[in-house]
Amino acid sequence: MLVIGAGPSGSSCAYWLAEAGWDVVVVEKKQFPREKTCGDGLTPRAVRQLQDMGLEDALTGAHRYTGLRSFGWGRALELSWPAHPVFPSYGYTITRHDLDGIVAERAAKAGATVHQHTEAVAPIPPDDGDVGEATARPRVRGGSGRPRALAGCAGAVVRDVGSNETSEIKARYIVVADGSNSRIGRALGSARERGYPLGMALRGYYRSPRHDDVFIESHLDIRDEQGDAVPGYGWIFPLGDGRVNVGVGLLSTDQRWKGLNTSRLMEAFVAGVPTSWDLSPETSCGPPTGGKLPMSLAVGPHSGPNTILIGDASGAINPFNGEGIAYGYETGRLAAASLGAALAGEGPAALADYERRLTDFYGEYYRVGRAFVKLISNPATLHWCVSIGMRSETFMKELLRIMANLMRPANPGGAEIGYDALVRIAELMPEGLARTLLH
Ligand SMILES: Cc1cc2nc3c(=O)[nH]c(=O)nc-3n(C[C@H](O)[C@H](O)[C@H](O)COP(=O)(O)OP(=O)(O)OC[C@H]3O[C@@H](n4cnc5c(N)ncnc54)[C@H](O)[C@@H]3O)c2cc1C
Repeated sequence: MLVIGAGPSGSSCAYWLAEAGWDVVVVEKKQFPREKTCGDGLTPRAVRQLQDMGLEDALTGAHRYTGLRSFGWGRALELSWPAHPVFPSYGYTITRHDLDGIVAERAAKAGATVHQHTEAVAPIPPDDGDVGEATARPRVRGGSGRPRALAGCAGAVVRDVGSNETSEIKARYIVVADGSNSRIGRALGSARERGYPLGMALRGYYRSPRHDDVFIESHLDIRDEQGDAVPGYGWIFPLGDGRVNVGVGLLSTDQRWKGLNTSRLMEAFVAGVPTSWDLSPETSCGPPTGGKLPMSLAVGPHSGPNTILIGDASGAINPFNGEGIAYGYETGRLAAASLGAALAGEGPAALADYERRLTDFYGEYYRVGRAFVKLISNPATLHWCVSIGMRSETFMKELLRIMANLMRPANPGGAEIGYDALVRIAELMPEGLARTLLH
């Protein structure tokens, strides 16, 4: 088994495969510890995955926090993480600089071979008989113009970053975990569904006297240069090490936000946050960096005869809140289950079953998320939702449970009732019709 990329998704997949006793090789182009542009926020869902990998005690340097302080339209609400039978009622912040190496090391301890400073540069076309009827070309295209399955491959040509020498790593199954740019995924035929939500986000670090606040903070009314509200939020995530991670993220699905200058948005946000954070050019630790957030499993096909996409390479980010670490860990684990079944004798059919697992886990939730994104991409609806929502702490607590995917189907409350209503709205709102009505 070859896993390309050792971010959250690749390392989780490698861990679960190695733990089950399979031979796994991971290639990662960077050397840990390495910088990675992120908000560094772990929700209870991400913490649960780290616990399952036996890693909670290894999170040295992580800052434990208890909830979200939400600002909007002149109001602030402190929303603690809810009690839940599966997920803890706390989260952590920890820089990806520190976190990703810890998880990769866990995969290595479980038995995976992790080659750092090793970049996959191209897939190797399949040898005859290697992957059944696979070809190096993606299979027949469906109506959306995307192939119906990823191409198969026999492994990857890899480059040693230090020496620049290339060699080949062959494998029966290949996991593509190379993040949102996903050069290898695209070489195998993956493409993003254009109508699905895409986020853009920018973050920087600041030294702050409130670095150990026990609430992470989100500001829901960020505005463009004309003063119009944009669909997104600004955040301040205390890191507990003298710094805070500060950023802005927005949904750029709609044409209206495509040309928006995120650097200016960030500057305006930083200038407007409560002065107690002490954010200024003097406390900045360096210029902000940014990246794309493909959401709602926007990138596919998700599998081929011996290939599988996980994490950002599959566009797995939650469209409600822009969270991707938990979904990287989870899709890595789901893929490991399908690959384990393939290796145990089921063969390529088990990879096609990965799609079913994704649909069972996320199908309905992400469909509702897409409808939600369409609604809040309309400035009037966005204004109405936030201004009404911020008047009620109870409402916002239930909304947080929906947005962070922390619902309790066995013990339904406001969030579950509201979510069921959203499911019905999303069903009545075919995706094409929603686009026409709302824009
Ligand atoms: C500004 C910003 C803020 C964010 N904030 C949060 C947040 O607070 N919480 C949250 O949950 N999510 C957040 N996200 C999303 C989150 O960062 C991603 O969803 C997550 O990193 C996805 O994990 P991944 O393993 O799929 O991909 P990545 O984390 O991108 O990992 C991919 C790995 O593959 C390696 N790689 C790439 N190409 C190759 C190759 N050809 N060969 C070998 N190795 C390769 C890379 O070096 C990298 O280590 C944020 C994203 C952005 C842009």
